[in-house]
Amino acid sequence: MDLHLKDKVIIVTGGARGIGKAIVQTLTEEGARVAIVDKLVQASKTLPDRNEKGKFFHADLTSEAACKEVIEDIVREFGALDGLVNNAGFNDSIGLEQGSPARFIESLTNNAGHYYYMAHYALPQLKKRRGSIVNIGSKTSVTGQGNTSGYVAAKGAILSLTREWAVELLPYAIRVNAVIPAEVATPLYESWLQSFTDPQEKLKQVSKKIPLEHRLTKPEEIADAVAFLLSDRSSHTTGQWFFVDGGYTHLDRAIN
Ligand code: NAP
Repeated sequence: MDLHLKDKVIIVTGGARGIGKAIVQTLTEEGARVAIVDKLVQASKTLPDRNEKGKFFHADLTSEAACKEVIEDIVREFGALDGLVNNAGFNDSIGLEQGSPARFIESLTNNAGHYYYMAHYALPQLKKRRGSIVNIGSKTSVTGQGNTSGYVAAKGAILSLTREWAVELLPYAIRVNAVIPAEVATPLYESWLQSFTDPQEKLKQVSKKIPLEHRLTKPEEIADAVAFLLSDRSSHTTGQWFFVDGGYTHLDRAIN
């Protein structure tokens, strides 16, 4: 299936590692011009070889000013925008007991603030090209995880904003959808595993509970869903929460 993404200009936040990097790779293979935005400077040297049509932009998205500036830089470089993938995020474990009101608000800003800032500043350009937005959520926003109020609240807000923006942007035919991962093998996931005394045992326990093939989701499997939702092959799909998780969130627990 041709996704018609050739030469489309698409921003991927957190595109230097993990799920974001896989999205960059997939979109590049589809012929898109990808603007990779990340705070991980050294990663710019290890980006996909075939990304000759794309470019790396360094920004820490926790700052609104940085989001505004990076959108301006991208538009100056590429002249247009067709898509935005809000992906950067970090499970910072700010809980009720092990946290504070100030750190809770900080976590919300760090995880959800830039989804709004990026969409807000990209919007004038997206309106010109009937662009598409994909927000990366987390299954923790519908299941809870424990000891991570800030991250979970931010991911819940991201699902609500997906619905809200889908409605607000109907007049411009801009579609907005969310892709929701559960357990994906990425550097972030690896560092979470390392927080357990026996990471291998923890990985075994989690994998056992994933109904489809008892394994973690691959970043490329998330990326394929994102590419589809960005493309005009999903031209009548908007406001949707699309779980790519091997059935982890919804299938009957009795099967495990
Ligand atoms: P990852 O391996 O840590 O990669 C995320 C990338 O985003 C990193 O390069 C990171 O840079 C960058 N980043 C984070 N915050 C940023 C900011 N404020 N400004 C600029 N760049 C920033 O994470 P991942 O596992 O691929 O996760 C990607 C998304 O999927 C996140 O939204 C996460 O919540 C979601 N998710 C992941 C899983 C999973 O199982 N992996 C499950 C559910 C949801 P640094 O490394 O320098 O921080």
